[in-house]
Amino acid sequence: MNLLIFGAPGSGKGTQSALLVEKNNYKQISSGDLFRNAIKNQTPLGLKAKEYMDKGNLVPDELTINLIKEVLGENKDKKFILDGFPRTIKQAEALNDLLRELDRVVGIALFLEVPKEKLKGRLIGRRVCKNCGATYHVDSYPPKHAGKCDNCGGELIQRADDKEDVIEQRLDVYEANTAPLKDFYKRMGIFKSIDGLGTQDEIYKRIIEVLEI
Ligand code: AMP
Repeated sequence: MNLLIFGAPGSGKGTQSALLVEKNNYKQISSGDLFRNAIKNQTPLGLKAKEYMDKGNLVPDELTINLIKEVLGENKDKKFILDGFPRTIKQAEALNDLLRELDRVVGIALFLEVPKEKLKGRLIGRRVCKNCGATYHVDSYPPKHAGKCDNCGGELIQRADDKEDVIEQRLDVYEANTAPLKDFYKRMGIFKSIDGLGTQDEIYKRIIEVLEI
């Protein structure tokens, strides 16, 4: 079954999607990762996206929808998990149109529920591997050797948008634009909320129970 996973910044979307990829063979389509790759490769899309991302704002719908359209078109035969897309009602409507065209469906929209007061700490302490993208937390999920990725030995860095001033903006943008997707997917009858507090494995178990896989 195809899935999408959404929630506030720091709710654990990327971590749980990566686990679904590793253990259940999903193709992860992460809009954030796609933009970060475009930035790394200095493509015209990357240069444009960076302006918005660095300030904690959303990349405009049209650019984002076109990107996802392209990637979904390239993965027609794979079961996918959309991670971080859609983030606005307009994107959600465009996704429905796109899936109809491709004759595909998303079976469940998983919402990772984490109280707002927990999100800031998660984001400020988050470190990512510059090389493979693995995610750590300085307190709750530290690497074995400080500053080094357990998987590949790559350097761990703080994302530019995980700095304190940008985090506030990202949380406000989430409330205004993305939180309304809860009602959107409730109306579609595919909404499932998951308690996003606990260890990575505890949360993953809850997801598996809901997915019945
Ligand atoms: P993420 O890695 O999901 O936290 O996304 C990082 C940043 O990429 C966000 O703060 C946005 O600036 C941008 N971004 C990711 N996904 C989207 C989306 N669906 N729509 C607009 N902007 C996005």
